[in-house]
Amino acid sequence: MEFIWHFICVGFIVVFLVFPTWLYMQFVEWRARKEMDESAKAGRLEPVTIRPLIDERLCMGSATCVRACPENVLGIVDGQAVLINTAACVGHGVCVPACPVDAVELVFGSDKRGIDIPEVGGDFQTNVPGLYVAGELGGMGLIANAVEQGVQAMKNASEGITPDPEKWDVVIIGAGPAGMGAALIAIQKGLRYLMLDQDDFGGAIRKYPRKKLVFIRPIDFPGYGKVKFTSLQKEDLVAILEDVINKAGIEISTEERVEEVIPLEKGFQINTIKQTVYAQKVILAIGRAGTPRTLGVPGEDQDKVAYWLKDPEQFEYEHLLVVGGGDSAVEAAMALGEQPGNKVFLSYRAANFTRPKKKNVEKLRKAVKAGQIQLVLESEVKEIGVDRVVLQQYDDEIVLPNDYCFVFAGGILPTDFLRSAGIAIKRHHGKKIIDV
Ligand SMILES: Cc1cc2nc3c(=O)[nH]c(=O)nc-3n(C[C@H](O)[C@H](O)[C@H](O)COP(=O)(O)OP(=O)(O)OC[C@H]3O[C@@H](n4cnc5c(N)ncnc54)[C@H](O)[C@@H]3O)c2cc1C
Repeated sequence: MEFIWHFICVGFIVVFLVFPTWLYMQFVEWRARKEMDESAKAGRLEPVTIRPLIDERLCMGSATCVRACPENVLGIVDGQAVLINTAACVGHGVCVPACPVDAVELVFGSDKRGIDIPEVGGDFQTNVPGLYVAGELGGMGLIANAVEQGVQAMKNASEGITPDPEKWDVVIIGAGPAGMGAALIAIQKGLRYLMLDQDDFGGAIRKYPRKKLVFIRPIDFPGYGKVKFTSLQKEDLVAILEDVINKAGIEISTEERVEEVIPLEKGFQINTIKQTVYAQKVILAIGRAGTPRTLGVPGEDQDKVAYWLKDPEQFEYEHLLVVGGGDSAVEAAMALGEQPGNKVFLSYRAANFTRPKKKNVEKLRKAVKAGQIQLVLESEVKEIGVDRVVLQQYDDEIVLPNDYCFVFAGGILPTDFLRSAGIAIKRHHGKKIIDV
């Protein structure tokens, strides 16, 4: 009788626990393989910049890293963590501490795709004396790291500055987390600084998707205090950064892109789209996202043309054109399509959307079906008028009513900018750079 009870108990465990778990694991692996195959076809298995590197000897397939990653970069295949959508990695590195056996680290580049990083010394100075690099541009991703680097770079740069009315003591290029760290020290040290950004304060953070959950470690803003959150929504973080700026009195010249930094015998000449200025020292905190690529068509210089979408809620009952075929374009079109009364057109030069994440393509299909977006595939913008746009599709010209245009045509990488300033650059193929 006892034997039968044992048999029933073991049978119960196998049928209701072991078998469903095994079945579930099979399903999870099947899904990860499918995602990996699709990523391989779309060229998404190579990193854009940062990516996790899994040590196969240590990984025991616990899947804690897979569950930790909100971008679904990792999956489990053959009982081990693997990269199934490398290009989606944004580098916050929550996968690293999630691993119980320290099998995950963050690296730049891969065997196939090298990532260019400027060479900087321990004091954040480049090979060009007086020219410093801080934040993600120097290979140090993550918000907290960027702030800290900005702080350190400015502390080092402040040494040896002498009063010179002809020049700014220091010009900070980029008002993201690294630039803000640098500006806080400049204020503490009473330096004459000029901070320039081609967009607005906040850097990459302002361009995160709406309500994105941001993972950070506590950040010390000199002169302001410690921000102790470890996870918070994008909007809340932007509000904190704004508070730091207001309380510390950081002054920023926004929408002023720097086009050139020219080392002089003494100091630097900085050419922006608005003016030429001179500085004793320069801190480059321009991140790695680059400068948005323009279309080069007539009418593009109007105020109604933008290269990012910050607040889709601002746009209601408008005729809108979104240009591009990547995640940014698709997400912008969908956000605008959700606002009341908008008529949104999405122009893309290819016939299919192969670059965006699968879930974005699915959402786009639904938005098109719901009439929120009209696709104009295999088309290119020919001209942007005051209240219309002209698209070229095959041999036809399509004229659409238009109030605003949003262009997502990729970016011009900062590498060219660095080279023209004389900064030495090294290509990395998977070297560990970041400590999370
Ligand atoms: C989608 C996404 C999600 C992320 N999630 C997280 C996360 O959860 N946690 C985390 O810690 N990190 C995260 N990161 C990474 C983090 O945002 C970056 O590491 C950080 O913003 C780098 O700061 P930075 O100041 O070096 O550069 P950026 O934030 O990129 O700022 C650079 C600034 O320089 C300006 N600039 C560029 N070129 C010029 C020019 N020529 N002239 C004038 N100005 C210029 C830009 O407009 C920008 O404001 C994420 C990144 C992305 C893309």
